[in-house]
Amino acid sequence: MNVLVVNCGSSTVKYQLFAMDGEDTYRVLARGLVERIGISGSRLEHRVAEQVFTEAGTVPNHRVALEWIIKVLTTGETGVLKNVSEIQAVGHRVVHGGERFVDSVLIDEVVLKTIKECADLAPLHNPPNILGIEACQSLMPGVPQVAVFDTAFHGTIPEWAYIYAIPYEYYEKYRVRRYGFHGTSHRYVAERAAKMMGKNLEELKLITCHMGSGVSFAAVKGGKSIDTSMGFTPLEGLVMGTRSGDIDPAIIFFLMEKEGLSAKQVEEILNKRSGVLGISGVSSDTRDIEEAAPSNHRARLTLEIIAYRAKKYIGAYYAILGGLDGLVFTAGIGENSSFIRYSICKGLEHLGILIDEERNKARRKEAFLNSEESKVKIMLIPTNEELMIARDTWRIVQQKR
Ligand code: ADP
Repeated sequence: MNVLVVNCGSSTVKYQLFAMDGEDTYRVLARGLVERIGISGSRLEHRVAEQVFTEAGTVPNHRVALEWIIKVLTTGETGVLKNVSEIQAVGHRVVHGGERFVDSVLIDEVVLKTIKECADLAPLHNPPNILGIEACQSLMPGVPQVAVFDTAFHGTIPEWAYIYAIPYEYYEKYRVRRYGFHGTSHRYVAERAAKMMGKNLEELKLITCHMGSGVSFAAVKGGKSIDTSMGFTPLEGLVMGTRSGDIDPAIIFFLMEKEGLSAKQVEEILNKRSGVLGISGVSSDTRDIEEAAPSNHRARLTLEIIAYRAKKYIGAYYAILGGLDGLVFTAGIGENSSFIRYSICKGLEHLGILIDEERNKARRKEAFLNSEESKVKIMLIPTNEELMIARDTWRIVQQKR
């Protein structure tokens, strides 16, 4: 079964075409992205094996982007399919599934309506996801489409971990609660960690650390998320590229008053001008910060804060898990930065977390990073959300046949 995985952002569509023979037997036929949708200078980058093709074009909306993707997948030297009918299923990444979706689901009219209702909770993310679904429905009529939600894996978080200590009526009225994000990534690396350790996921206590431009940690007990650092929105939790993570909420009102700012302006500051960028004043990219650190106090401080706050979350999750078998690093920073991984683990020896400096040099491939004496296995696992979406799509479409 050929499964097209689609991830629509506000100005991008990323895609990957899988030939799935089973959940664990698959080939990636092609992958790529269209960027600058609705802006001048749109371009498509398409990869088949080691070959990279780039094209320029005019892409006013997501439907045109998907038409372009289907064209390159089915024609000329970029083509890997004879025609569009060879795409037998489409899997969509959908950011917010609210409380309704705790698993991936076959999209029908009712599901699509519910995803639209969830857009209220993710006004930046769900609308492009919906545009992608609608475009695929009209370009590939009758082809089953599956939605895979970023929030779904955290659907198992207990009530005491998801209710905020604000008047309960706001949960009842608006569903204000912790949802958590990056769920597809946390689920993927947790499953891989169990395989690497040669254990059943059901018997493991794991902390999965997704550290990219967005950062979230999850406490995973027996394969189920029991808590995660992102909350009602992806703003809560650890220090991120441009997002503040946890702050005292009173800072918002203090800044509004002192600087004469509106709520929207403070929201923009906390989402776009804070985090690594805000502390360092150098960049939102930790590569630049590591480079600047030797001669720049604020860059050094940024790295110290990243590690300090990560340790606090690891400690908290160790406590609620009641111990720890594995600590997993993934995404851009987690897969690449030996320095940040080392700074996080250093000082946690009393929890049985002992990192091995030599093994910690590994990058972008599955590896154990712990020393032999370490009670806790420390793992580098490159995330693969697209594969997870393809697997879910394959499974759900098989079941319905
Ligand atoms: P996204 O969350 O946008 O998908 P990624 O998971 O690709 O992002 O992570 C991007 C981030 O990873 C960059 O902003 C950068 O901070 C970090 N990163 C990538 N490579 C390295 C590296 N070699 N060293 C340190 N940080 C890195």
